[in-house]
Amino acid sequence: MAEADVPHTGDTAATVIQRDPSPTTAPLDGVARQVQVVQLVKEFTFEAAHRLPYVPPGHKCGRLHGHSFKVEVRVEGPINPATGWFVDYGDIKDVVKPIVDGKLDHNYLNEIQGLENPTSENIAVWLWDQLGRSLPGLVEIVVFETCSARCVYRGPAHGQSRF
Ligand SMILES: [Zn+2]
Repeated sequence: MAEADVPHTGDTAATVIQRDPSPTTAPLDGVARQVQVVQLVKEFTFEAAHRLPYVPPGHKCGRLHGHSFKVEVRVEGPINPATGWFVDYGDIKDVVKPIVDGKLDHNYLNEIQGLENPTSENIAVWLWDQLGRSLPGLVEIVVFETCSARCVYRGPAHGQSRF
């Protein structure tokens, strides 16, 4: 598989993944082409407070504190030859932003059902559960707790055989 980064702007990014051997699309101009599979990433941010209830006594994360969280949502699928894209970034935003803004932003995460222990890991899994059915092609959620610390989650089926 060849993978190449495509220039991106702002808070979105696209990566083209060319699968080999690959099926072909129905030709628009009589020339059969490979199906081009891409990954699209859309970023979201939210501010929230939390404390981690199961850290050892005296651990700083046991105290009430806040973060400027960043979330990356990654979807994967084929480029539609008719539109030239897999999905409109706006469609991703329409699914994710109501949940991020409506449920997480400026809230005390520990009070949200399913986030009683709001680690980055549990936030990523919670988001997957919220988004999975309504976001076709979802392959990855990344939750940045700080600029230098983040959790990557690729869904419940990913990596199960290793644990
Ligand atoms: Zn924290």
